[in-house]
Amino acid sequence: MVKVKVKLVSWEEIVDWSMRLAENIRASGWRPDVVVAVARGGYVPARLLCDFLEVTDLLSVQSQHWVEAAKMADKAILRYPYKLDMSGHKVLLVDDIVDTGESLMLAREYIMREWRPQELRIATLQWISPVAKIKPDYFLIEVKDWVWFQYPWTRLEDVTQFLSRIFKEVREVTEEDLKRLFEEWYGIHPHELGAYWEMALRRLESKGLLRKADGKYVRIKEQ
Ligand code: AMP
Repeated sequence: MVKVKVKLVSWEEIVDWSMRLAENIRASGWRPDVVVAVARGGYVPARLLCDFLEVTDLLSVQSQHWVEAAKMADKAILRYPYKLDMSGHKVLLVDDIVDTGESLMLAREYIMREWRPQELRIATLQWISPVAKIKPDYFLIEVKDWVWFQYPWTRLEDVTQFLSRIFKEVREVTEEDLKRLFEEWYGIHPHELGAYWEMALRRLESKGLLRKADGKYVRIKEQ
């Protein structure tokens, strides 16, 4: 039984989605003069939107809600707040996905209050409509059944966390069984992960959480 539904996203999909999202923004007749990425998930789409929309001014705010893959923190927080004068500017606030929408709502509220732009609109690649508290002005894909989008910029981090969750329940396992369990839990076969599979295992080993002995992976610390 799959424990977390995961959609493995490729770099090609990211470029294609961002290109099409930019087309939607252009087609609306509205043009931002500043793009603000919500760190960290909004960085790559924001940079691509700047390219496709010919915007040179790119800034960022860090609004954090999900502490690790598919695990939510209680509350969104805005880290490293700073003040700017954005009066007279049209701002496009960009993130990868609206899930609960908490982090974008916080970022929007902060920017409107402290930076005072002439206008602010929101663009994301995905919008999880049944759970989201806000609907972005621009989005490419409406997601009706919740899934964890495993974006390519957070692959090592996510795969490491996915593996470490297995080791909370399993103390000792052969690599073959680990691969089978991983596919059962997340619906992804490790061969789809290329070098990330080995890198994630090595990261767990270097953190002292795992060691390899007699062809098996053994958990060495309570996690
Ligand atoms: P939220 O505040 O719940 O809308 O989500 C904040 C951030 O967490 C998003 O911008 C993503 O970077 C990450 N995130 C939340 N839900 C998902 C998901 N289902 N798939 C991938 N990333 C997600």
